[in-house]
Amino acid sequence: MTKYIFITGGVISSLGKGIAAASIAKILESRSLKVTLMKLDPYINVDPGTMNPYQHGEVYVTEDGAETDLDLGHYERFTKASMTKFNNATTGQVYNTVISHERRGDYLGKTIQVIPHITGEIKNRIKKVAEVSQADIVLIEIGGTVGDIESLPFLEAARQFKLDVGEKNVLYIHLTLVPYIKVADEIKTKPTQHSVQTLRQIGILPDILICRTEKPLSDEVKEKISLFCNVRKEAVIESPDVESIYQIPLVFKEQILDEIILSHFSLISKPSNLQDWQKNVVERLFSPKKTVQVAVVGKYIGLQDAYKSIYEAITHAAINNQVKVEVSKIDSEDIEKHGPEKLLKGMDAILVPGGFGGRGIEGKIKAIGFARKNKVPFLGLCLGMQCAVVDFARGVCGLKDANSTEFKPKTKNPVISLLLEQKEVKDLGGTMRLGAYPCKIKANTLAAKVYKQSLISERHRHRYEFNNKFRKLLESCGMVFSGIYQKKNLVEIIELKNHPYFIAVQFHPEFKSKPDAAHPLFSQLIRAAAEKK
Ligand code: GLN
Repeated sequence: MTKYIFITGGVISSLGKGIAAASIAKILESRSLKVTLMKLDPYINVDPGTMNPYQHGEVYVTEDGAETDLDLGHYERFTKASMTKFNNATTGQVYNTVISHERRGDYLGKTIQVIPHITGEIKNRIKKVAEVSQADIVLIEIGGTVGDIESLPFLEAARQFKLDVGEKNVLYIHLTLVPYIKVADEIKTKPTQHSVQTLRQIGILPDILICRTEKPLSDEVKEKISLFCNVRKEAVIESPDVESIYQIPLVFKEQILDEIILSHFSLISKPSNLQDWQKNVVERLFSPKKTVQVAVVGKYIGLQDAYKSIYEAITHAAINNQVKVEVSKIDSEDIEKHGPEKLLKGMDAILVPGGFGGRGIEGKIKAIGFARKNKVPFLGLCLGMQCAVVDFARGVCGLKDANSTEFKPKTKNPVISLLLEQKEVKDLGGTMRLGAYPCKIKANTLAAKVYKQSLISERHRHRYEFNNKFRKLLESCGMVFSGIYQKKNLVEIIELKNHPYFIAVQFHPEFKSKPDAAHPLFSQLIRAAAEKK
């Protein structure tokens, strides 16, 4: 019988519910249980694919090409669970399904209501994840904060779930904030009490509280929370601010959160094995032998979440190389204003991430030109590869007006363009090349050295492609096309010779990097940076 854990959030947002969920999944997985996770998002957008990264953070792409919430990235980084389109559901998707059933006449004229129809569809989606994954435990993170109007149907579905699958098979965890008030030098439990009260009004009695806190919780405070919130004292778990998110599974483990969960479910399981995580991730992270400076040149620099997986992949590479990486986030528009020398001098590596739209494009191209000429290790991702092609066509092959038709539709030298078949597409949502595609790697290239494999698979999210009409010319000028999607003869990887590390890819390797298995493209970038130092 599958067990279900619902994770809700209280008091405020941004407490790190996704990371808490992933960390709980990690400690359960370390007990040899098969886990999977799911995110329920209260907004009405049908998927996060068309949402502004400045509002919503990065769009995380799964193997099967779903454009999902960035929390699914945490789930895949912390655990072995692999995410699919089933693991993320939004209010928009749920309503979409119910309304299309209604249009088809499936309800035979009945009145369609939030309860039972919307809540029923939410529960179906949760059960589908259990069925597809065959997991022992499904963890369901409910987005938003308890008390929001928007998340009510999800909470109601979570409440009903107990009736469907039995009391013993469901557990509720509530993540709250226990703030420290500096002027009073006191820790306050009231917001947590109120948040739990709100949950109880909805009919959910939390079994475990995870308290985010700046200061350690004394026994007294824990007792108070336990009494007022009706949760056993040992189930009041403290989650202090930590330097790295990868410490959190260890923090939970220390408070035997895994035992508390297993005993609730009456599950007996193997002892935990988190030593590898401790040794290979946390200890390495905190014992760097060198420091390197990496510039990330993009247009969503102001928001940490917009390039979430990229920053995480850089951290994984730092762990793998046992170096400290200092990331300078550079707005590509600033490079347009001040020139690359001023902002990029002294950098040991330059990374240009993906993106959409023309803003800041020329700055990215200039940054790449700087990396090329000054032999600074460089990694380009998706749009970063497209800009690297433009820079090379202009700077080395003499095609002064080379561009992508995304930015200059009428350019005479469209080195990046749409494929014929895409020119008809009008919808914006879900119409890109999405998800995993195979890529054949050419022997004796940097890509072959990095991957140590001749056939790889990576995740995509883009519309534009390298224009094969320019392949011969660019090759004759020295560009190496080292990775190809053979079925359609599409360029996946480009690189330059006579450069310590210059490689760019049409896909998004950042989605497959893990703290204990850094992606080789990132790992070798940081290695080249450390060697340059
Ligand atoms: N805008 C480019 C395209 O659609 C690159 C997309 C990306 O970087 N993810 O092809």
